[in-house]
Amino acid sequence: MAECSACKQEMRNNVGCTLEQYANRDKPRIPYNRGEPGNCHDCGTPDGELHHPGCDMERCADCKGQQISCDCNYKPPTIKKGLILKVLELNDGLCMDNKEEREKLADELQKAINSDLLSQVERNAP
Ligand SMILES: [Zn+2]
Ligand SMILES: [Zn+2]
Ligand SMILES: [Zn+2]
Repeated sequence: MAECSACKQEMRNNVGCTLEQYANRDKPRIPYNRGEPGNCHDCGTPDGELHHPGCDMERCADCKGQQISCDCNYKPPTIKKGLILKVLELNDGLCMDNKEEREKLADELQKAINSDLLSQVERNAP
């Protein structure tokens, strides 16, 4: 018995997984690309179908490395510069008339916030 935790199918039946995308990722998963008929030696999925999560043959949609060993799952959330600019615009006192100054300040804030987010993720990493 080896039931897939994502799709609840029995992997030994050589069926493809139905989970199309991981909840914490923004790209769909990459299907098995064996290039010839046959099944994945690890999870049993047929060529052209999706691996079951945890399979060592699955490629990462972002870095194309091995899904189970790549770092993409631990990518920190990032803040967008547009959001910071919005905050600065709403704040009357801050460089309201000087677009260049505001851009510069937004860049600095974005860098500071993102590096802070990154350090939090690194602390929480397994
Ligand atoms: Zn599955
Ligand atoms: Zn597989
Ligand atoms: Zn990756």
